Amino acid sequence: MSQAETTDERATVATVCLGGCSGCHMEFLNIDHDLVDLLEDVKIKASHMIVDEKGVPEADIGIAEGVVTNEENVEVAEELRENCDTVVAWGDCAALRGIMSLRNDEDADEMIDEVYEGKADEESESPRGDVPVPALLEDARPLDDYIDVDVYIPGCPPDAEVMAYGIEALLDGEQPEIVEEKLQYD
Ligand code: SF4
Repeated sequence: MSQAETTDERATVATVCLGGCSGCHMEFLNIDHDLVDLLEDVKIKASHMIVDEKGVPEADIGIAEGVVTNEENVEVAEELRENCDTVVAWGDCAALRGIMSLRNDEDADEMIDEVYEGKADEESESPRGDVPVPALLEDARPLDDYIDVDVYIPGCPPDAEVMAYGIEALLDGEQPEIVEEKLQYD
């Protein structure tokens, strides 16, 4: 057992999914057995596919997937910035606004009606009912339109190895350099 494990002086990481498809998080799991090695150096305090933790805990590295597309996303993004020393935009949606911004040409209210009301059956709950979905913002926008971002790891999703490299570089006190050949669009 490593010293980091016995004293648990591992660096801490929290990830959040904003307006994303969870593809970035899925790809992160593709690190496979290397995730075990990474966990020698890193404690994942929050990440919806790995840890059952609500909210954004304090962490050394905070990672966001997805665009900022609704009011809840704004709150989570601000919490991430407040609680994490280094903030990473994971994937094209968080870094650049990506495919999720295709909805920007549509009226937000009409889109909610079309998707949730127009296609609903009798048993569907209305998003405008007792437990409404968070209000859509007029546009889906990248993370750095709302908070300061320290590191960008583009791709859709970024390659698992590039994600791991980004975290390892930060642990070494370096700014990750994502060269063009490493960009992945699957
Ligand atoms: S960057 Fe691609 S994989 Fe990641 S959330 Fe956006 S659409 Fe999904």
